[in-house]
Amino acid sequence: MSHIKLLDQNTINKIAAGEVIERPAAVVKELIENAIDAGANAITTEIKEGGISFIRITDNGNGILKEDIKTAFLRHATSKIKTVEDLLSVSSLGFRGEALASIAAVSQVELVTKTSNELTGIRYIIEGGEEKSYEEIGCPNGTTFLIRNLFYNTPARRKFLKSPNTEASMIGDLITRLSVSHPDISFKFINNNKIKLHTSGNGKLKDIVYNVYGRDISAHLLEVNGRTEEYEITGYIAKPIVTRGNRDYENYFINGRYVKSSIISRAIEDAFKPFIMLHRYPFAALHFRIDSDLIDVNVHPTKMELRFKNGNEMYHFTYSILSQILAGKELIPDVSLIE
Ligand code: ADP
Ligand code: MG
Repeated sequence: MSHIKLLDQNTINKIAAGEVIERPAAVVKELIENAIDAGANAITTEIKEGGISFIRITDNGNGILKEDIKTAFLRHATSKIKTVEDLLSVSSLGFRGEALASIAAVSQVELVTKTSNELTGIRYIIEGGEEKSYEEIGCPNGTTFLIRNLFYNTPARRKFLKSPNTEASMIGDLITRLSVSHPDISFKFINNNKIKLHTSGNGKLKDIVYNVYGRDISAHLLEVNGRTEEYEITGYIAKPIVTRGNRDYENYFINGRYVKSSIISRAIEDAFKPFIMLHRYPFAALHFRIDSDLIDVNVHPTKMELRFKNGNEMYHFTYSILSQILAGKELIPDVSLIE
C-alpha cells in the first residue's frame, strides 16, 4: 500500500485559504478588488461583528456570466490572464484566480449576479467548498457577495481573529485606502447598520482626502505632479506641519494597486527628512503610473508587495519630485499654502 496520496480539492483549497484569507479584511480586499476589476463605479461594503459573521459587498460592475459562475469558484480559475506572458502586462488587480475558491472553502457564500446582456441573474450558494444551490432570479446588473461565518469550519483559524471592533477597524482602514486609490469609484462602508464612509466617486482625489481625513489635513495639501517617460506621479502630500507617529498616513498606489514598498516609503520619508522630526511621518496620497514591464506584481499571494525592475530609479524619481515641491514651498510664506 502506498503512503503518499494527492489531497482532494476541498482540502487543498482550505490549506491555500490560509495564504490569501487570513482575516475578514482579506475577504473584503479580494472582493472589492474583484468589483474594481469588473468596472464597478459604486461599491458598498456592509459588515457585522467585524466581518466575522457577515460581509456583504455589492457592486454595479459587469456581473458574472451564468456559465462562468461555478468555474469562478475553482482554484486557478480567472478571466484576467491566459498565459504566463500576460503576467508581464497585467493591469487588473487580480490574476491568480484564488480568492473565490479560498473564501468559499472557509465560509458560507451566497452570490447574486447578473450581466447586462442577460434578463435574469443567478443566486448561487456554496458553503465550505460545497455547492448548495444554483437558481435563476430577478436582480439588478452587477454582483453581490454575501459571506457568512468566516472560518466556521476551521476553528483553529477563527481563534486567531481579533475582537470584532479590531477586525472592523482593519476593514475600515482598508476601505479608506481603497477609496483613496480610486477617486472615480463611490465607496460606501456600513458597520453594524451605521454608515462609516461614503465617497462621491467624482474623481477628485482632493475631495476624498477631505472626506476621509478631514479639514486638518486637507487644508495643508501640496499638489504633486511629475512625470518622466516611464514614471508618473500625481496626488498630494501635506505640508510638514502635518505629521503622524506612524506610517498610517503614507498612502501610495501603483497603477491603482495599494502596495507596501520600502523603496517608496524611504523616498517619501527622505524627502521630508529636513522638515520633520525623527520618528514622525508625513501624509501622502500618491498615485504612480508605471510601465507594467518595469514592475513585477506576482511576488506574494496577497499582491501587496511588488518588485521594481530598477528600484534606484524609482527612488530617485519619487525623492526628487517631492523634495523639489517641499523646497520650493519653503520659500513662500506659510499662509499662501493654505488653499
Ligand atoms: P481573480 O480575481 O484572480 O481572477 P478570483 O477568484 O478573485 O480570481 O475571481 C475569479 C473570477 O470571478 C474573476 O476572474 C472574475 O471573472 C469573476 N469575478 C469575481 N468577482 C467578480 C465581480 N464582483 N464581478 C464580476 N466578475 C467577478
Ligand atoms: Mg480576485
